[in-house]
Amino acid sequence: MRSRNQQPFSEVVAQVAAAPARRRRQRAGRSVDGATWIDPAGTVYALVATDVEPARVSVLAGLGAAVVYDACGCGGVECKLDWLTERESLALAAEPPPRLHPTKDGLARLAEYRADGGQVLIDVTGEVSWGSRIQG
Ligand SMILES: [Zn+2]
Repeated sequence: MRSRNQQPFSEVVAQVAAAPARRRRQRAGRSVDGATWIDPAGTVYALVATDVEPARVSVLAGLGAAVVYDACGCGGVECKLDWLTERESLALAAEPPPRLHPTKDGLARLAEYRADGGQVLIDVTGEVSWGSRIQG
């Protein structure tokens, strides 16, 4: 019986040629146009909705969504983003929903992003307070 590992060389060449070029690992953060987020593990999330209701954000956190807090709104370009741990995100679900209180430049936003695998990321930006963990 022929081993599965003994693949004809021509097939190997064809497979390698068909494989997409390996992408350079991108920096974690939000894309400039806001269409995507990349988490520290390299997972890419695509925008689902901006201006998400605080109550919905709480539900998503309770379902295991990841949470990133971007205090200034630069998306990680100028400062270090605050990526909550899984435990911290789940704990927020037990707190009252996030509260938006924009003042100066009016920046306060809750946005929902989703990865191909279904994992949800909540982008908390600007002057938003949520439990004891996020006090923007
Ligand atoms: Zn910033």
